[in-house]
Amino acid sequence: MSAAYPFSAIVGLADLRLALVLNAVSPAVGGVLVRGEKGTAKSTMVRALAGQLPEVAVVPGCRFSCDPDAPDPHCPDGPHDAAIGGSARAARLVELPVGASEDRLAGSLDIERALTEGVKAYEPGLLAAAHRGVLYVDEVNLLHDHLVDLLLDAAAMGTSHVEREGVSVRHAARFLLVGTMNPEEGELRPQLLDRFGLTVEVAASREPRERAEVVRRRLAYEADPDAFAARWAGEDAELAERILRARTALAHVVLPDAELERIARVCASFEVDGMRADLVTARTSIALAAWHGRTEVTAQDVRRAALLALPHRRRRNPFDAPGLDEELLDEALRDPDEPEPEPEPEPEPEGDGPDDGGPDGGGSPPSDADGPDGSNGSDGSGNATQAPKSTEAAPGSTPGTEDASVEGAPAPSGTGREQAAVAAAEPYRTRLFSVPGVGQGAAGRRSRARTASGRTTGAQVAAGRVTRLHVAATVRAAALHQKARGRTGAGLVLRRADLREAVREGREGNLVLFVVDASGSMAARKRMSAVKGAVLSLLLDAYQRRDKVGLVTFRGADAALVLPPTSSVEIGAARLAALPTGGRTPVGAGLLRAHETLRVERLRDPLRRALVVVVTDGRATGGRDALGESRRAARLLAATGVASLVVDCESGPVRLGLAARLAGDLGAPVVTLQELAADGLAGLVRDVRSVA
Ligand SMILES: [Zn+2]
Repeated sequence: MSAAYPFSAIVGLADLRLALVLNAVSPAVGGVLVRGEKGTAKSTMVRALAGQLPEVAVVPGCRFSCDPDAPDPHCPDGPHDAAIGGSARAARLVELPVGASEDRLAGSLDIERALTEGVKAYEPGLLAAAHRGVLYVDEVNLLHDHLVDLLLDAAAMGTSHVEREGVSVRHAARFLLVGTMNPEEGELRPQLLDRFGLTVEVAASREPRERAEVVRRRLAYEADPDAFAARWAGEDAELAERILRARTALAHVVLPDAELERIARVCASFEVDGMRADLVTARTSIALAAWHGRTEVTAQDVRRAALLALPHRRRRNPFDAPGLDEELLDEALRDPDEPEPEPEPEPEPEGDGPDDGGPDGGGSPPSDADGPDGSNGSDGSGNATQAPKSTEAAPGSTPGTEDASVEGAPAPSGTGREQAAVAAAEPYRTRLFSVPGVGQGAAGRRSRARTASGRTTGAQVAAGRVTRLHVAATVRAAALHQKARGRTGAGLVLRRADLREAVREGREGNLVLFVVDASGSMAARKRMSAVKGAVLSLLLDAYQRRDKVGLVTFRGADAALVLPPTSSVEIGAARLAALPTGGRTPVGAGLLRAHETLRVERLRDPLRRALVVVVTDGRATGGRDALGESRRAARLLAATGVASLVVDCESGPVRLGLAARLAGDLGAPVVTLQELAADGLAGLVRDVRSVA
């Protein structure tokens, strides 16, 4: 294997470099989330971090990387003899592929061997491998939900726990979590977002000289990786040494009360949830001071730390882009007792960074702009974009808390202008629409599913690894063979082939993806109000059934994914309320957008089955062959096997029956707005407004 790309050779990305270095100095900072477009070398830089981390002392032979000074009391390879001593090894960077299995991440317990041989056979997973190192997830926003849950549990407890049929294994799993993502492919769940200590936004440089340097170094590396790495080895070694020095100095850094109060002031003014933001900002400030060889945290450290630690914690709405308003930040940073504090200058990088002069030849020396502390050029706030306060997610627009106006209520901006958002009609209780067949998705209340918790409906020969043993059926299967197996004692002689797995059935939650026609043909105020009321009702139903929801709308020239799949029905309701109407009817574009959304979602959460609810009158317009396009898109969607439902919104004396034809192409049942209601009285029922 050829040498890895050296950390020091990466051009630019000052914020990311600093964030990674600070985590190397102080793992308590809690990891980094890197957001940015593809092709920005963000993954290269993260992978190169491993070479910069100080070595770790481990108990020889322990697969769980126990610290010889403080071995894990639960270590499956333990207990360890205190006298055995330790050996040092390089810190690991372990990559978690987005499609990994649970066993791969948490480790696998061989229940068959436990039962038939009485051996606790445990194969460590990636969480064990990452203990005391870095766990890196590329495309972390596409990580399967069940892996996210495992990851969150491990990160919260500092341990990984696997249990099957009463046999359990627990081991320490403390790691630095580093994730990279392209926000265009969907946002991260808020709980996971909160787990990352710092966030940085990266973008490719627009500066031609810098771009040329990136290419020059890349070509030099590809031509001869080993020689390239050797040229940068000195830089990397110096950086690693500086990190080690800073880590040692960390314990001696003082956080003065005035700076601690500054941190509290900033976090309070940005209305972050809980105390994690304060803690992370404090730890980051301390790491910054140590990195700069200071023994006391300064106001400048706090500012820099806040820019890294707060952007992802202050969002009112998980789908707002993260970012920090720097004017607001500076106002919050200001000490109320001394109104005009002199801003401390950022320390000059002179001589203390790996960026003063580089090795000659091949890759030319690093430019001034890529010092690890980003002290040149911008103040390091980099690309943090300003996120204006969203008004559309105002709490007042949540279902059940606002008086959704009954149909015919005056529109907010009057005069039937195309763009005006029509208020939704009163929500009502809807009929249950479920996905046919039996799924295996997360527990919920919509469709039939094999679940871990449902009632046992039978037993089957275990196909793969047994996770839910059916004891009675297993004993029955074994009983037949006891004589032949020469049983003499009291215990049952059990063989692998006897094992029976419980088949349980319960209900799962689904992804309900709404595809809503917001075009001019639907825009008659009264009708749109009824349509919004219907979708709102279905949204509330989805909330109670623990579904995920998504919202695609189409009008005018195109379709938009107004709400990427989320568990937050409140946001769905807010987006619906703000939805403007009018224009042409690109039904086909709407269905294609749904098709693409489902494709991405299947990658992320393959067991969650989807139900597509198309709300339209089916009158496709907008292109030369809009109707044909819509029918082709419908057939394409149908070919994926997804379950769907068409809500026919056609009204008036002349009926074209186009929605019904669309339903035919989708292989979907069709219902009218009136038929949506549980009791067939849509729009008249008003007693279901008390939603949890
Ligand atoms: Zn151990």
